[in-house]
Amino acid sequence: MKPKVAFFDFTGCEGCQLNKLNFENELLDILAHVDIVEFREVMDERADSYDIAFVEGGISSPACVERIHDIRRRSKILVAMGACAVNGGINALKNRQPIDAVREAVYGEDKYLFATLPAMPISAVVKVDLEVRGCPMSQPDFLKLFKALVFGKQPPKYDYAVCVECKLNENECLFNTGQVCLGPISRGGCEAICPGFGQFCTGCRGFVEDMNEAAMLKILTDHGVSRDEARKQMTLFNATEVSV
Ligand code: SF4
Ligand code: SF4
Ligand code: SF4
Repeated sequence: MKPKVAFFDFTGCEGCQLNKLNFENELLDILAHVDIVEFREVMDERADSYDIAFVEGGISSPACVERIHDIRRRSKILVAMGACAVNGGINALKNRQPIDAVREAVYGEDKYLFATLPAMPISAVVKVDLEVRGCPMSQPDFLKLFKALVFGKQPPKYDYAVCVECKLNENECLFNTGQVCLGPISRGGCEAICPGFGQFCTGCRGFVEDMNEAAMLKILTDHGVSRDEARKQMTLFNATEVSV
């Protein structure tokens, strides 16, 4: 019997799910090892239970809370997929504004039409077994986790800074070129792809567990970034993880 796999979307842009459909070279191999029983973007069928549920997007309403509890009850393994699901991601910027201002910006005079909650990661509501980080979720990470689950192995964990992989790749540090970068506190596993292309890291994979927020803030302001801009950079994907 092949494992029954389902994909679900909560509050997010659906970029993580689309990223998965881009597995042109691997899709047939994936389909050979599992039965995909639910995936709103590509099929109409539904199932009662799942061996593995991949969940994209975060929690942002009472309806989301009810639905994720239902999915959790019916899933043996639940995987949070992408920044919105893993730590709140960009959705959590909502939490830094007065809720009425957020409602009004989105729905105008219909601002009380829909019930809303502060943006939360999936783990704030139900137990999450595993995660695939990034915005959008990293394709290599997804494949590694998928293979580990199918073959009963432990998926890799990444709790070291992006700087580690950046140094291993022998990139020139962006701080040497007049730019700034969140690599010292951001969680690696992406092969430091952004600095590798000359773009600063914005921490889309979350921050390392023992990150030093005050030191990062000081490094940014010492390099000419205003405190307000530094705060914006550090909260872009990680509003749930910082106090600045
Ligand atoms: S993590 Fe990024 S790509 Fe994925 S749903 Fe959220 S905003 Fe979209
Ligand atoms: S460019 Fe960024 S990730 Fe690379 S070494 Fe410098 S601070 Fe670290
Ligand atoms: S370098 Fe930073 S922003 Fe780019 S993918 Fe890695 S964690 Fe995300």
